[in-house]
Amino acid sequence: MIKVMDLHKTFGKNEVLRGIDMEIAKGEVVVVIGPSGSGKSTFLRCLNLLETPTGGDIEFEGTSLVKSKQDLNRLRQRMGMVFQQFNLFPHMSVMDNITLAPKKLKNLSNEKAQKIAADLLQRIGLADKAGSYPGQLSGGQKQRIAIARALAMSPAVLLFDEPTSALDPEMVGEVLDVMKELAAEGMTMVVVTHEMGFAREVGTRLVFMDGGKVVEQGKPEEVFASPQHPRTKEFLSKVL
Ligand code: ADP
Ligand code: MG
Repeated sequence: MIKVMDLHKTFGKNEVLRGIDMEIAKGEVVVVIGPSGSGKSTFLRCLNLLETPTGGDIEFEGTSLVKSKQDLNRLRQRMGMVFQQFNLFPHMSVMDNITLAPKKLKNLSNEKAQKIAADLLQRIGLADKAGSYPGQLSGGQKQRIAIARALAMSPAVLLFDEPTSALDPEMVGEVLDVMKELAAEGMTMVVVTHEMGFAREVGTRLVFMDGGKVVEQGKPEEVFASPQHPRTKEFLSKVL
């Protein structure tokens, strides 16, 4: 579904991604871990062109993202993103947050968009929050709404950038549970996280990044049990 080829990204003189190669198949849950500053967010942001790669290419559903001119709206409909800070629109109700993009970008009628949103809210256990505003919700609820908002566009892939890092500990579980359910339903996901339990339980592949490169990857249980690279060993010894 996604093929990343020798992806490079520099900011000024700072080479943040130094040649990343990766293939992601439909239904995979790729968990990306690595120290702060290793380029994890930049990698995710390059995938849906929130950042423009400075070298290499990305293929998504058979088309080159770098070499051909992209309809960015379409791309981001197919590749949804969930951020650490939720990024909900504070002045809009939960219902309007979820229905805005389907109405604007997919030309869905208000009725149809509301039906989709209501079904999603039901699924994440927040059916009673349709009329609430983000400011009235807990962090865990906000993040579940952000996931529902991404799902409302029926994406082929969901990208998560540290979706639980801004949450109080008691709210991490409810967000991870929604993500686990999505994975079980076959959603293709790329997840940057420090939640090693999630990585082990849900990840089909664990990718360790350091210094803008993929240093090591493999089945999560194998990488956890016997990391091959000294950098991976050192990192895991600190977080496990
Ligand atoms: P991670 O998510 O692994 O912590 P990032 O991808 O956020 O790492 O950042 C990697 C490096 O890229 C850091 O040195 C950061 O300062 C730099 N960087 C990220 N985004 C920008 C930007 N928009 N402009 C300049 N430098 C950036
Ligand atoms: Mg980051």
